[in-house]
Amino acid sequence: METRRCFLSTQPLLFCALSILISAQTIAQSNDASGVSARARAIQDSAIVVDTHADTPQRFLDENFDIGSTDPKDIGHISLDRARAGNLGAEFFSIWVDPEINKGHFAQHTLDLIDSVYEQAARHPDRMMMAFSVDDIERVHKQKKLAALMGIEGGHSIENDIHLLRDFYRLGVRYMTLSWSNTNEWADSSGDIDDPKIPHHNGLTDFGKQVVLEMNRLGMMVDISHVADKTFWDAIATSKAPLIASHSSARALTNAPRNMTDDMLRAVAKNGGVVNVNFFSGFLDQNYWNADRAQAKSQAAGIHDYLEKLRAEGKQVTFADEDRITREWMAKIPRPPFTALIDHIDHIAKVAGVDHVGLGSDFDGVSGAMPVGMDSAADLPKITQALVDRGYSADDIRKILGGNTLRVFKEVEKVSREMQSQKAQSHK
Ligand SMILES: [Zn+2]
Repeated sequence: METRRCFLSTQPLLFCALSILISAQTIAQSNDASGVSARARAIQDSAIVVDTHADTPQRFLDENFDIGSTDPKDIGHISLDRARAGNLGAEFFSIWVDPEINKGHFAQHTLDLIDSVYEQAARHPDRMMMAFSVDDIERVHKQKKLAALMGIEGGHSIENDIHLLRDFYRLGVRYMTLSWSNTNEWADSSGDIDDPKIPHHNGLTDFGKQVVLEMNRLGMMVDISHVADKTFWDAIATSKAPLIASHSSARALTNAPRNMTDDMLRAVAKNGGVVNVNFFSGFLDQNYWNADRAQAKSQAAGIHDYLEKLRAEGKQVTFADEDRITREWMAKIPRPPFTALIDHIDHIAKVAGVDHVGLGSDFDGVSGAMPVGMDSAADLPKITQALVDRGYSADDIRKILGGNTLRVFKEVEKVSREMQSQKAQSHK
C-alpha cells in the first residue's frame, strides 16, 4: 500500500485523521491473525493446493498418530484441521523406509506404511479420501476433502524387483524418488556420493534406466529429489515423461548437494517437469546449512548415544525416537526468516519459469526445522501472501500452489496411456 499523502494535501485535518482511522480498521478487518489479506486468502481458496512431500506416515505407523487430531500442542505439521486451515487440497504422503532400521525387509515396511495411509483415510471418510489420479484429486477437492496420495521415497523399496514396482503402483503409489540419501543398487544418491566406501554406478545402471521406463509406462512420476547429479542427468535423458523433484530447493541460493543447480532447473523446464520447493531450513538458508554441517559430527554422536541407550533398555527404536532427539539438535540453530522460502520459489520461477515450480514441503520430515512462521500446513496461505507482495498474479500463484504439479501428473498419465497402447499394438 502506498503512503497516504494527507500532510501534503489541502484536506481538513479532521478528515485526514478520520481517513487514517478508517484505513487502519480496513486493514485490521482484511488481514487475519497471521497477516494474510482477504485477497491472498481468496487466491488460496480458489486453488487446488498440492504438496508433494509429507513424512506423516512415519507418525501414523510409529506413534499411532491420528490425522484427525485436534490437539493444538501437537508438534506435527499435518492434521486434517491444519490442512483445512491452509486449504491444502492434496497431499503426497511419503512412503519412506529407513534403510538402516529396515535392512532386509524394505518391501515389507513399504507395505506397512502404505497401509497406514489407507487406515487414516478409512478412519476419516468424511474428510480424507485416497486419490490415484488428477481426476480423483479434482473430484475429492470438490467434496471439500483432503486427497491422499502416496510417493515412495527411495528406490531401495522395490528390492531390485520390477514386479514389486508394479505392485506398488497397483496399491496406489504415484511417484517414486529414485534414491533416498542412500545409494541403492541401481541409482547413486547425493547423500553418499562422496563416500568412497559406498560402491557407486556413475548415475543410473541399465536396470535403473529400465525402472525409469517402467515407471513411465505405469504412470508413476519419476522423482529426482535426493539423487546424485549424474543420476539426475541420466534420469532426464531416459524418461519419456516429465520429471518431478518432490522436495528440492535451489543450489544457487543454498549450496547443499540436495538442492538443484540452475542448469538442472533449466533442464526440468525443458523436460516440462516441476521442482517442488523443500521447506527445510538447511536447504533454504546457507547460514543454517553451515551451522548444521558444523554440528553434524557431535549431532550424529549424540543421536547415536541416545538411541543406543534406548536399545540397551530393551526398547525397539523407531523413527519417532530419532525425530525426538534430532529436534533438540535442530533447535540449537536459529531459524531462517520466512523470506528464505519465498526466495527459493522466486529463484526457481525466474530460472525455470513459473510453470515449473511448486510446493514440496517435507512436512513432518525435518524435525521441525523450517523458517520462522512455517509451523504447519495451516501456514500455507502465508506463501500466497508473500507471492502477492512480490507481484505474482493470481493465476501464477495458483500454478505454484498446485496447478503445475497437476499439469505434470496429467502429462505423466498421458504418456503412460500412449506407451501402453503402443505395447498393445505391437502385441497384435
Ligand atoms: Zn527426503
